[in-house]
Amino acid sequence: MVSSHELISLKHETQKDISLYINGEFTSALRGSTFKNMNPFTNEQINEVAEGQTDDINKAVAAAREAFDHGPWKTMKLSKRLSYIYRIADLIDEEIERIAYLEALDTGLPISQTRKMVSRASENFRFYARMVENRLVGDAYQVDDEFINYTINVPVGVAGLITPWNAPFMLETWKVAPALATGNTVVLKPAELSPLSANLLAEVIHKADLPKGVFNVVHGFGEIAGDALVKHPDVQLISFTGETKTGSTIIKNSADTLKSCSMELGGKSPIIVFEDADFDRALDACVWGIYSFNGERCTANSRLFLQESIKDKFIDALKTRVSNIRVGDPLDENTEVGPLIDKGHYSKVKSYLEIAKEEGTDVVTGDIPMEFARGNFVAPTIILNAKNNMRVAQEEIFGPVLTVLTFKDEEEAIKLANEVEYGLAGYVWTNDIKRGHRVAHRVEAGMLWVNAQNVRDLRTPFGGSKSSGIGREGGHYGFGFYTEQKIIHISIADHHIQQFGKR
Ligand code: NAD
Repeated sequence: MVSSHELISLKHETQKDISLYINGEFTSALRGSTFKNMNPFTNEQINEVAEGQTDDINKAVAAAREAFDHGPWKTMKLSKRLSYIYRIADLIDEEIERIAYLEALDTGLPISQTRKMVSRASENFRFYARMVENRLVGDAYQVDDEFINYTINVPVGVAGLITPWNAPFMLETWKVAPALATGNTVVLKPAELSPLSANLLAEVIHKADLPKGVFNVVHGFGEIAGDALVKHPDVQLISFTGETKTGSTIIKNSADTLKSCSMELGGKSPIIVFEDADFDRALDACVWGIYSFNGERCTANSRLFLQESIKDKFIDALKTRVSNIRVGDPLDENTEVGPLIDKGHYSKVKSYLEIAKEEGTDVVTGDIPMEFARGNFVAPTIILNAKNNMRVAQEEIFGPVLTVLTFKDEEEAIKLANEVEYGLAGYVWTNDIKRGHRVAHRVEAGMLWVNAQNVRDLRTPFGGSKSSGIGREGGHYGFGFYTEQKIIHISIADHHIQQFGKR
């Protein structure tokens, strides 16, 4: 936990400008261009960031390619490679307070929440180091008395990792850790709106002294730097987290060079509360699940389905709780909801409140205190009397906005929950154990929680169905993506070989 003294001293630091990290060196962009990184709470500039473009991506991929093909990374003893991974984890632990601070400064997420988020980052590295130790096993096949065939798992090559701004450090480490632990080399293209913690990750990895070129970071815009990475012929893998539309563009753009793509995309996840649910716990989980992380959370329960008999009571309780949420400075320990990432996203979220009114719903929202007028604040909002086919019930708003709908019975709840293009997460609240399982089986989503908020174990698969993603991250699912399985056929007897041309 950061003491108030440490936080005060961090707040007094000036953020230095940020470079690219290529082939073991911090370097400017080749064309010397930079972009401004803005503070979402004040809309003042934090620092300048080197703007990587196609030639910088080419340079980073060349370094990663050379490190993969000719460097020691993939061939060194496993224990040595994994000692680097454990070292990165230890170095992250030393920086945890700084990372939590940088995340809050850069993204507007409240510091009490970034602290929880980043404390999991070092565990990502330790977890994947252990996973590689445990899963570097193959299958052996006996074939009559003539063959033994067996499989081995090898790293794939250069991994291109593209990440969003809503949980930057957590999501970057979640991709970097398995990619490196399995022996690949990496080019990371972090989100342009949140570059601070990605730069710190480069500093940490530099300190861990990995061989040159194994890990590279190119900051820059998605349509330029991200696009060049996706299209580069020497990159074999793209692991992407971000919007569904961007994911679809990336799949198209990676087709010519036939890359494996892992896609973690948008969501519009239902929380279904039955009349027999534990009311108070369901309320706690619902409020946390949509308003935490400023509502900029892929697995947010942004559609609330209430059974009709508890609708009035639940909505009353919800209104009270939402009006009490503390909106404020993300660096204040007591803040529960901070400003949205940037002006553009603020306008998008605000526009949905207008759309909600045009669609005929009742929008319950609060006022932002004048002292926070400079920031990108949207007050926690509830949209009542919505219908399932409205845009506010169907589209990902990605802000502190909850759309409320009702249902009569289990069948209707499942039907309404599934009438949406997304399928990332779902939450079911009922004290009928059989119904809990039944509904969880039938809601079309990659991840379901019954009588629980979003609590994850790193070993379990993470990902969505429908328009929310392709593939799974986490656990050995990540191991499968970052390794190639090879089958080796060994003849142990003189099996028959045709003798073409022998006369
Ligand atoms: P985004 O799609 O705008 O950007 C994500 C990343 O892609 C950024 O680094 C961006 O620069 C890059 N990018 C943009 N266009 C590109 C292109 N043409 N080629 C290559 N790269 C490109 O998403 P965002 O606004 O940063 O993040 C919010 C979205 O992410 C939400 O939809 C949210 O649900 C989703 N998300 C999903 C998960 C999940 O695990 N499913 C987790 C977090 C966030």
